[in-house]
Amino acid sequence: MANKKTTSPSSTARVAVIGAGIAGLACARTLAQAGCEVTVFEKSRGFGGRMACRQTPFGTHDHGAQYFTVRDKRFDAALGTTPGLCTPWSANGVRVLDPLGRVVEAAPSPTESRWVPAPGMNALAAAWAQPLEMSGRVHRQAKVLRIERDALDARRWQLQVEQTEGAADEAAVHAGFDRVMLAIPAPQVTDLLRASGIAPKLQQAVAKVRMAPCWTLMLAFPQAGSTALGPSWNAASSSHHRIAWLARESSKPGRGPVERWTVQASADWSQEHLQDDPQRVSAKLLKGFAEITGIRAEPGTTQVQRWLYARTVTPLGKSHLWEKSLGLGLAGDWCLGQRVEDGFVSGLELALASLR
Ligand SMILES: Cc1cc2nc3c(=O)[nH]c(=O)nc-3n(C[C@H](O)[C@H](O)[C@H](O)COP(=O)(O)OP(=O)(O)OC[C@H]3O[C@@H](n4cnc5c(N)ncnc54)[C@H](O)[C@@H]3O)c2cc1C
Repeated sequence: MANKKTTSPSSTARVAVIGAGIAGLACARTLAQAGCEVTVFEKSRGFGGRMACRQTPFGTHDHGAQYFTVRDKRFDAALGTTPGLCTPWSANGVRVLDPLGRVVEAAPSPTESRWVPAPGMNALAAAWAQPLEMSGRVHRQAKVLRIERDALDARRWQLQVEQTEGAADEAAVHAGFDRVMLAIPAPQVTDLLRASGIAPKLQQAVAKVRMAPCWTLMLAFPQAGSTALGPSWNAASSSHHRIAWLARESSKPGRGPVERWTVQASADWSQEHLQDDPQRVSAKLLKGFAEITGIRAEPGTTQVQRWLYARTVTPLGKSHLWEKSLGLGLAGDWCLGQRVEDGFVSGLELALASLR
């Protein structure tokens, strides 16, 4: 079923933001605060993108970003709008492990805090999205399939959106946008611009960006209750051939007490096993986890997640792309790097550039 939604003309700039990760939300809230009429389209059910949190019967797993740093004063100020939501997670010092899982760096003194929202990494995005949601201009489970010139006003844009909320899939056209901001991973920007047949210059600029995948394993050991199994440490980066990072979820502030671990495969291993069956991936990562931690107990739950575009390998090298003549902008962590904070700065800078 197709329908058409148009908005009545006014002098307020009408902006569509595609993606409700940290970059999209930083962009959307800045534009909304500046008086723009902002509509957000997010293909998932929840907010936060790769700042993700998975529920299990035994507690949550931050299966995307594990924590974030705060180096930019503007990020610090933005976090101040939700006081108490994010707190530092010391993990009692993140260890560095050799390929055999032996600690080679005991507990490097932290040079900066590792921040985590509670009860899960997505809580920050959910809090920032709330005022936008209350304005009634947030569409969840709304995947933008095409960006095209508005059929009624060729100076504006309209979006073809696949709406999967509710029982039946529904196709809708949302029209009347002066500007469209894409705050999605670089390869998805390329796919969307290409499918829309627009903005070849932007497509060319994004082509140099490279992003790597990440298989992530989530394990819960309810039989241990709140007793820590295995190592005395709570988090480690590792040079094991399969595993790059491990963290005890229950050591993070505001999480449940049941012993739970999140394990991230290395970028190389994830790439090599990208098309593998999830069960096979799970078994291999579980073996690596046991080798490193010595935990050989049967987990109560085992889940895996494949992130196709997890971390930036080659960034764009500038905070955003804004093509004023088209009214099209691009933001995302991949513009600057591979961290949550890069996403925030990118989204903010895009919004500010479009307001100039
Ligand atoms: C496994 C893993 C571990 C990480 N660890 C850390 C860490 O410890 N610290 C750190 O700082 N960073 C970490 N990161 C990186 C961090 O998660 C990202 O830098 C940050 O979340 C990127 O935010 P973003 O808004 O740019 O993109 P995203 O979070 O990817 O947001 C993009 C959003 O757009 C939506 N979307 C995509 N296409 C469409 C479409 N066509 N229509 C509508 N919506 C669409 C997506 O559903 C998503 O919600 C990690 C990432 C992963 C995957």
